[in-house]
Amino acid sequence: MVDPVRSRERMVREQIEARGVSDPAVLSAMRSLHRHLFVEEAFAYKAYSDGPLPIGEGQTISQPFIVARMSELLQVEPGMSVLEIGTGSGYQAAVLAHMGADVYTVERIKKLFFAARKRFMDMRMFSVKLKLDDGTMGWPEHAPYDRIIVTAGGPEVPEPLIDQLADPGRMLIPVGESKRVQRLVLIEKLDGRVTRSDQGDVAFVDLVGQHGW
Ligand code: SAH
Repeated sequence: MVDPVRSRERMVREQIEARGVSDPAVLSAMRSLHRHLFVEEAFAYKAYSDGPLPIGEGQTISQPFIVARMSELLQVEPGMSVLEIGTGSGYQAAVLAHMGADVYTVERIKKLFFAARKRFMDMRMFSVKLKLDDGTMGWPEHAPYDRIIVTAGGPEVPEPLIDQLADPGRMLIPVGESKRVQRLVLIEKLDGRVTRSDQGDVAFVDLVGQHGW
């Protein structure tokens, strides 16, 4: 296999810094984390390439640049609590944990949940808490969250997530009617007011909820 240290360095330089992500905490996390351990072994050789990869169950680990961009937009600071919906491989959660966040992440597919839990145990990353559940309901027990990141796309923003966002707080969520084409929406809560801003096109797998979507 290609040298993972050099592959990571190249990934950060050519795919991430070159496209304008500059948050040192994001770059450091992505330089350090062994992304090849988050994908199926057969795809490990592609782990640092510029695209999403299958992780089983019809799901994908996001393109490295998307992980970087969302992590930067979220403006995470050490000690913040972050809720992620859609654990998948656990890579995005690991990036946020590396940035110093206390991460709560929810996944609805059993096999992916157990695989991610094992990865965090093997890596001794104890600041990530995982739950097997429908994430459109959030994780009320640990609310409010300073930051919320949804890494699957649905037609609307689940109300429980807005309720569980702290004030001040920031949330990123892909929103779109059609499959695998969404707009990335940044939701900011400040002084009791909730505002939304469009952050461009994204292509995530479906957010499967109890809303009859
Ligand atoms: N953040 C992941 C990639 C996410 S892929 C990573 O870094 O690898 C999207 C994930 O969202 C899939 O694993 C899918 O099963 C999960 N998902 C979809 N709808 C969900 C829901 N309602 N609750 C929890 N997880 C959900």
